[in-house]
Amino acid sequence: MPEPRYRGRFAPSPTGPLHFGSLVTALASYVEARVHRGQWLVRIEDLDPLREPPEATGQILQALEAHALAPDEPVRFQSRRHSAYQAAIDDLLARGHAYRCPCSRKELQAHDGRHPHACRTRPPSPLQRPFAVRFKLHDEDCHWQDQLLGPQRHPVRAELDDPVILRKEGFYAYQLAVVVDDIDQGITDVVRGSDLLDMTAQQQQIYRALGARPPRWLHIPVIRNEQGQKLSKQTHAPALDNSRASANLVDALRALGQNPPNGLAQARPEQILAWACSHWRRQAIDLTAR
Ligand code: GLU
Repeated sequence: MPEPRYRGRFAPSPTGPLHFGSLVTALASYVEARVHRGQWLVRIEDLDPLREPPEATGQILQALEAHALAPDEPVRFQSRRHSAYQAAIDDLLARGHAYRCPCSRKELQAHDGRHPHACRTRPPSPLQRPFAVRFKLHDEDCHWQDQLLGPQRHPVRAELDDPVILRKEGFYAYQLAVVVDDIDQGITDVVRGSDLLDMTAQQQQIYRALGARPPRWLHIPVIRNEQGQKLSKQTHAPALDNSRASANLVDALRALGQNPPNGLAQARPEQILAWACSHWRRQAIDLTAR
């Protein structure tokens, strides 16, 4: 079978406006897609309304536009994809790859992560409500090749690590939705922050359970503030100033180890992206920063 054409994506959770760390991720995934003559998509992972201020999605999309990061297809919103996630859950339950789990966090802790209700093997009684749905992992010493970080190895522990895919409150979980959409959108290459590296081994098992081939992954070092914390809403990373889009892009290129010429910040965002695509050196990304 011929290799499918490169398709990448940037998939932010709208927990706040775009900050410098997410711009770096967006830029890296955009440039990688362009360098491979591929397509680049944007997907808003708005699965958890309790953690997502309603204005954040608009702010993210505006910021991407101001930085000329234009996707090749209409933006996808996970909040409109519930029926696809439910169908995947029904399918996983029916084929024994998932189970209903009424165990509380406290109960699991008290049993060293084992399920006191034996829910992996026994369906909960109707009285044991509410329940989450968990994916049934199998023990594995998972090996894969990261496109930037090289060989990776991560142990996966059945039962102890089984991720929730449908929360008790009724929200679909990231770990399932990201895989369902990456499969559905034909994503061949995932470029994202190395804070998500630990998710990859479990996600590979979910891909296989859904009958799909996992994509290639490239994890870039996360951007940290002066205190060494990852830039995020929790660490109060400031929103990007869209009126400084060119300067932001040049700073993001430097954070990715690239060497833009002095004066590039005077160019328009489109021109900076074009420079980035023709001078991209993946191997210049500083891996010690992660
Ligand atoms: N939505 C996730 C986040 O913002 C990223 C998903 C991914 O790239 O796999 O952290």
